[in-house]
Amino acid sequence: MTDDLLARHRAVLPSWMPLYYAEPIELVSGSGRRVTDAQGRTYLDFFGGVLTNMIGYDIPEIREAVERQLATGIVHSSTLYLIREQVELAEKIAQRSGIPDARVFFTNSGTEANEAALLVATNHRRSHQILAVRNSYHGRSYAAMGVTGNRNWSASGLNPLQVAWLHSGDRVRGLLARLSADEQVDAAVEDLREVLATQTAGDVAALIAEPIQGVGGFVHPPDGLFAGWKKVLDEHGILFIADEVQTGWGRTGEHFWGYQAHGVTPDLLTFAKGIGNGFALAGVVGRAEVLESVPAISFSTFGGNPISTAAGNAVLDYLISHDLQANAARVGAILADGLRSAVGGLDCVAEVRGKGLMLGVEFVRPGSSEPDPALTNRVFEAARDGGLLTGKGGLYGNVLRMGPPLTLTEEEAREGLAILVDAIRSAAAVAA
Ligand code: PLP
Repeated sequence: MTDDLLARHRAVLPSWMPLYYAEPIELVSGSGRRVTDAQGRTYLDFFGGVLTNMIGYDIPEIREAVERQLATGIVHSSTLYLIREQVELAEKIAQRSGIPDARVFFTNSGTEANEAALLVATNHRRSHQILAVRNSYHGRSYAAMGVTGNRNWSASGLNPLQVAWLHSGDRVRGLLARLSADEQVDAAVEDLREVLATQTAGDVAALIAEPIQGVGGFVHPPDGLFAGWKKVLDEHGILFIADEVQTGWGRTGEHFWGYQAHGVTPDLLTFAKGIGNGFALAGVVGRAEVLESVPAISFSTFGGNPISTAAGNAVLDYLISHDLQANAARVGAILADGLRSAVGGLDCVAEVRGKGLMLGVEFVRPGSSEPDPALTNRVFEAARDGGLLTGKGGLYGNVLRMGPPLTLTEEEAREGLAILVDAIRSAAAVAA
């Protein structure tokens, strides 16, 4: 850490804004999948600024697109004027969304995107009842916190929505954990029917769900579960909001959007994080009939501004022209297989899970399902000591998360894997 930046941080920024690592890192430069701190130490980045640096650091195509826009002198012109980059990006996203007759509303963050989706859904359905999933995370505004099923993050207790909670597809703990994938789907559908009958007045506006729970520790339901839910939702006219903030843009390797693993189409889809590759860019996509049902005038001062949408266009073009979805599948499989064979059998590892380049390792006390956040932290610190940045998550802080840039090469995956396996083995040996 340079000078007394940490002390200055602590003196002026809120204490509830956590910093990673016992000795927090100040990153001063980045290139490709590597970042360098103020001490000159370089790390391989397996977390990409929380899945945000989706293409990597200092990518010429993205830098040049932003510099071209900066050179025009128009950093911001408000959405009251036509913005070419915004229209072009909306066209591309609408076309790729899988949602028919799609409209796109740009915001600055995933929280705002979910807030907008919930606003649209509640207006469209004239109901404030929402279904959400246990262990979910959707953001920090009142409504987004209201549908966040994790008390570490949604402490206010005030909720503008009436929310009923569904079981997640967790395979380590929870009521559905011991069931097979098919049984989980059946049980989750039965649970939905029961929740509708017992905890709602019937006129529910929407269900909001992440295809893979991000902050929740990369927990994902069995493929097809959303299809089971959607059948019931359709019987009641309930909308389905897919929160693709972490799972979008091909990160899961198998599909462009996480929802596609379930053979359903959402009514509303929210996106953020990776599409700006660091620039603040997010939004909601929805069928025109639904998205346009908000009766009042609405806009966002900075949402879809010329700089962030210039970045977004360059990111999306790069992503598609380099087929990063295929790279996520290929390199992600190397990482997942390597982790499973090297540490999957340890009795402190409950599960190695995830899809593509969204992978998690859940740590427990040996032979039990009791979370072990202390061990997770030791692994996390040891990986950093070895030159690898990762993330932590899960309701109990016992899941090590990996969401590297989708440009990660096979060599980098193997390099990171070796560091991680060493970190896990040495941290587990201390625990034993
Ligand atoms: N939704 C999901 C699934 C997220 O993971 C996040 C952030 O981590 C959000 C919404 C909120 O996004 P933001 O932090 O950009 O407001």
